[in-house]
Amino acid sequence: MKRPPLNRRLAEFGTTIFAEMSALAAGTGAINLGQGFPDTDGPDEIREAAVRALRDGRGNQYPPGPGVPELRTAIADHQRERYGLAYDPDAEVLVTAGATEAIAASLLALVEPGDEVIALEPYYDSYAACVAMAGGTRVPVTLRPHAGAYVLDLDELRAAVTDRTRLILLNTPHNPTGTVLTRAELTAVAELAVERDLLVVTDEVYEHLVFDGAEHVPIASLPGMRERTVTIGSAGKTFSFTGWKVGWITASPELTAAVRSAKQFLTYVSSGPFQYAIAEALRLPTAYFDTLRADLQRKRDLLGDGLRAAGFEVYRPRGTYFITTDITPLGEKDAHAFCRALPERCGVVAIPNSVFYDDPDAGRSQVRFAFCKKDDVLIEAGSRLRRLAS
Ligand SMILES: *Cc1c(COP(=O)(O)O)cnc(C)c1O
Repeated sequence: MKRPPLNRRLAEFGTTIFAEMSALAAGTGAINLGQGFPDTDGPDEIREAAVRALRDGRGNQYPPGPGVPELRTAIADHQRERYGLAYDPDAEVLVTAGATEAIAASLLALVEPGDEVIALEPYYDSYAACVAMAGGTRVPVTLRPHAGAYVLDLDELRAAVTDRTRLILLNTPHNPTGTVLTRAELTAVAELAVERDLLVVTDEVYEHLVFDGAEHVPIASLPGMRERTVTIGSAGKTFSFTGWKVGWITASPELTAAVRSAKQFLTYVSSGPFQYAIAEALRLPTAYFDTLRADLQRKRDLLGDGLRAAGFEVYRPRGTYFITTDITPLGEKDAHAFCRALPERCGVVAIPNSVFYDDPDAGRSQVRFAFCKKDDVLIEAGSRLRRLAS
């Protein structure tokens, strides 16, 4: 073969870090705090709802392209009851194969080759790959540590907008930093989007995982934003069924139709029986969401305490189930080398944040740990990591 098999658009991406680190975990028997999936399944009654749908023959054949009506109605009700956002389940809701497909379809549909896409850096790894597949140019705006947490510099965001900017790809609560953008920050982003006539695609898969009384504000709810925003949600993180791959978008009829045009040629449809189960999950009583949040906040503190005792600098997340740390106080400099050696040294797997940046030097000393694990696993991980302190 004269040419390498992988095309130029994707050549820089290789295998994801999660595959590399999960393989390390499997090979060494280490505790895997790398990839963000819970080690406990979601509610029994939702699992049973999926079994029932499967047995009753609901969703075993291709479901409707936009998603089953029961789920689209449940999504619309969820947006209205939680955020006062009214969407028509027929024209303004689209079910996707997880948020991952929603991100891909949105970017493939909305971005022309040459368009610039602003994304908050460090970013979720699929963003850069999907911008590249769409032929766009990514323009990172970097969140930086300030007073123990990561913050968005609004002046930097404003300065990043050019005449070629097509859209801002937001993510709040933000993976990997745990930053939850405030109403004031989002209002400034919204004003910029309106002033410069930009679209916003906002990844809100962690909308229910916010701590310390933080409020999740969908940017679509701010003035002038409903008609220019694609909001992405997912059942995976909220209901602890990451393998089911049920995600969705809510947007204006025009934007929804555009995203559907791309989505229909990616998977067409997916997750038939699971769609019925998630329709029920979205109608769980408030107590479910409150307990989820309280449990995760406790787990955050459990792992955070363990990491601090082991000598890491810990950035306190106000959302998601990740903690970003700095390894400089441990006398370490290179997060990638540190994470490669960690399973052998301590029996723990983590992710180097450098993979979430364009500039390999940025985030060089930062490491991400997931805390969506059983309490005893988090306690054990903490005590293993304390070997670093001695
Ligand atoms: C996990 C995750 C996704 C992917 O969600 P799926 O519904 O599993 O496809 C998207 N965005 C962010 C920020 C995530 O952490």
